[in-house]
Amino acid sequence: MRSATLFGLLPLVALACNGGSPSAAPAAATVTSRAAVKPDGAKAPAPEGIDATRNAARKLAGDILVGGQTMKTLTELTDTCGARLTGSASYTAAAAWAVERFRSYGVNATTETLSLEHTWVRGEARGKIVAPREMAVHVASIGWTPGTPPGGLRGDVLKLDDVSLDAITRRKDEVKGKVVYYERTAEKKARWMAHPLTRLAEAGAVAVITRGGKASNVLVASSCIGVKGAPCPGPAFGIGLEDGATLERLLEQGPVTLELASTAAMGGPAEVPSVVAEIRGREKPDELVLVGAHLDAWDLATGAQDNGSGVAQVLEAARAIRALGTPPRRTIRFLLWSGEEQVLLGSRAYVKAHAAELDRVVAYLNTDFGAGTPQGWAPTGFRRRSTATRMTAPSGRKASPR
Ligand SMILES: [Zn+2]
Repeated sequence: MRSATLFGLLPLVALACNGGSPSAAPAAATVTSRAAVKPDGAKAPAPEGIDATRNAARKLAGDILVGGQTMKTLTELTDTCGARLTGSASYTAAAAWAVERFRSYGVNATTETLSLEHTWVRGEARGKIVAPREMAVHVASIGWTPGTPPGGLRGDVLKLDDVSLDAITRRKDEVKGKVVYYERTAEKKARWMAHPLTRLAEAGAVAVITRGGKASNVLVASSCIGVKGAPCPGPAFGIGLEDGATLERLLEQGPVTLELASTAAMGGPAEVPSVVAEIRGREKPDELVLVGAHLDAWDLATGAQDNGSGVAQVLEAARAIRALGTPPRRTIRFLLWSGEEQVLLGSRAYVKAHAAELDRVVAYLNTDFGAGTPQGWAPTGFRRRSTATRMTAPSGRKASPR
């Protein structure tokens, strides 16, 4: 999961889905003229724009609250399609399912593909402390890392607190032939542009093992794939929090030896679909409001939170807006991305393919914070926060792409 904008449905309606007649006045004029008084003292008739927007918002909120299908949609996605690792058969099935879902709502939908250089198959992973005493540990292969030799590998553990390029270069003689262990927070401290797993493998580590921060030995999936889709050259594993803590305590006492095995394997290239659906606008069809979430999910579970909940929100927004009967003022494009967990590969491919129309994108509303009560908007990627706030104001004042 990556930080992104949480959108609530009502602001979406206010921004993009004025339910009034096609002749409704622009919302900006509506706000200022509502209080206007005619010279003869009579109140000017209330323009229908803002009221129509509010009525549309009420209908949408009511529809979703009373007859919403979000949970049903999420259950179907997670139970039927399951895990959605980018490039896997289950991901492709989920994309086809989402296209069908949009179409069942009466929303045009298709796919656009990302050319992925390497797919990846997790296989099975196991780990064991063999000295100073035997103890099985919870491990999972890190995405887009290769498996171990058949039968596994064995090595003494070297704990690193600093995985910066300088530190690895300085300690390369120690790294060589070792199983290197570090906490994942060290990656952020090092401010890597390339992944430390790659640098450690190049320095001769036989394997790398990283500790996440989730209690009860819950394993946190992550990827070693680079922005160009290059896989990691050496085996690497995540280890549970408590097992990692045990490992650290043993290391304080003396040498620790680990055995690690993985049948992870790199696959060939693949064309991976992202889903693109659209409801054409009635007043400003050339202006685009993008509403998106990533469809791919790590395969250690079914990705209900990250980001099945976001996918269900986007589908539900499409369903409810289409069911309203009146097209939105601007064109709304719904996007379900592939490859988000592999450094945004799907959305990067989309931006590249659609570069010519980016100036017509009024807003991109992304959801990737999991389920729960919507708490508002978190503007990201704007030069000025006030601009983002103005864009999401219920008055529907004229939006600026900057
Ligand atoms: Zn996510």
